[in-house]
Amino acid sequence: MSKSFKKIFWVFLISGSMLILLSPLKTGHTQEAPEKFNVTNFPQIQKNQIGDFVQRLKKARDNQLPTIDVTDWRLILVNRNYPITSEPTHLTTFDNRQVDERIIPELTAMFTAASNQQIQLEVVSAYRSVEYQANLFNQSIEKASAEGMTPEQAKEEALRYRTEPGTSEHHTGLAIDVLDRNWLAQGGLLSEDYGQTAGGKWLAENVATFGFIIRYPENKISSTFIEYEPWHLRYVGVENAKYMTEHQLSLEEYLSQG
Ligand SMILES: [Zn+2]
Repeated sequence: MSKSFKKIFWVFLISGSMLILLSPLKTGHTQEAPEKFNVTNFPQIQKNQIGDFVQRLKKARDNQLPTIDVTDWRLILVNRNYPITSEPTHLTTFDNRQVDERIIPELTAMFTAASNQQIQLEVVSAYRSVEYQANLFNQSIEKASAEGMTPEQAKEEALRYRTEPGTSEHHTGLAIDVLDRNWLAQGGLLSEDYGQTAGGKWLAENVATFGFIIRYPENKISSTFIEYEPWHLRYVGVENAKYMTEHQLSLEEYLSQG
């Protein structure tokens, strides 16, 4: 081998090794900048909105705020200001009640997990049609009217313990009222005290793992318009449920961040 050939050989060998050594660094760098945080992927955004947009992306990244899509079926909002617009079409039976069939895998896993901890959950209420709710509501009004109340007073009385037809989250098929066998055996009802029982505590600590939230937490009446209900669970999907629970947000507060 001639001297010059040897020289060229070593130059090729060294530069080749450097290329091989450096290439993973280059790939690693690309992986660190996920596509969704690249502003150039959103050409439809006006230049003057970019600062604001980048702030929101940073906030999302720092807090791991999931992407909130208000058209996501899991995030449908039904409350006294947002009546349901169409009734669910995916209903199936679970524990003798009707629920949206898409929540069955997580619901089943949740009941099994509770049972493994000696907590036998039971669904006491789930899907309710608008018509059924209207019947309940009218019965309450008729009862109050029979007691001598004016139509306005009667409606006010009915609203104390019933939701106006169309505004109950139970119309979605994504809400369930859950108690456990021990509490039911003691004659326990849907009451705030349930939150202090072993079953109520288990729900508060574990339902987010399965994509559910305690929909009406304590001290959230200003946004939910409903008193504390430790038994009323609402399916929103695992990533949403975990974020809301961790940051103590009601569904209304969570949606306002999107
Ligand atoms: Zn309920």
